[in-house]
Amino acid sequence: MYCPFCSFEETKVIDSRLSAEGQQVRRRRECLRCGERFTTFESAELVMPRVVKSDSTREPFDETKLRSGMLKALEKRPVASEAVDAAVNHVCHKLRTLGEREVPARLVGELVMDELHQLDEVAYVRFASVYRSFQDVDAFREEIERLRHRRTRSAEDVQLALWSSGGDAPEPTGGGREPPGGGKK
Ligand SMILES: [Zn+2]
Repeated sequence: MYCPFCSFEETKVIDSRLSAEGQQVRRRRECLRCGERFTTFESAELVMPRVVKSDSTREPFDETKLRSGMLKALEKRPVASEAVDAAVNHVCHKLRTLGEREVPARLVGELVMDELHQLDEVAYVRFASVYRSFQDVDAFREEIERLRHRRTRSAEDVQLALWSSGGDAPEPTGGGREPPGGGKK
């Protein structure tokens, strides 16, 4: 590029380094005529935004991390790998097309929850419970309550599947089931 001070077309790069976690190249240039120095930044047009965590630290978006988090929630659930790949791609695509340089980690979590909600309800609740527990300990219970109100019978299944990892399912308390003896008094 031309010198922004005198418009001379020859500049030399006196320093070049990666910045923004390697998503940008920062170059220090010096004009060969007037000797003024200036900085240029070069970056790809479509970059993933960086993720701002709740403690305000920033980290590069990590697709591997995102995928493993989703797979964790989907463990032993009847969901095809292709469907998981598609969900990961949806999240990445949404983040990329936001056109933001930084997004709150919370937003990434919400996008993941949207996808899981469509894939598998159990995985959704698992993820939501872990994810939201950092912000609100009661959120998980509220989520269960919400599901219970919406679809009473299946919410119970969700809860059972969630708590019992393959063994005998515990009897839910207050589930409204008739006791085996059937003795109402
Ligand atoms: Zn110049």
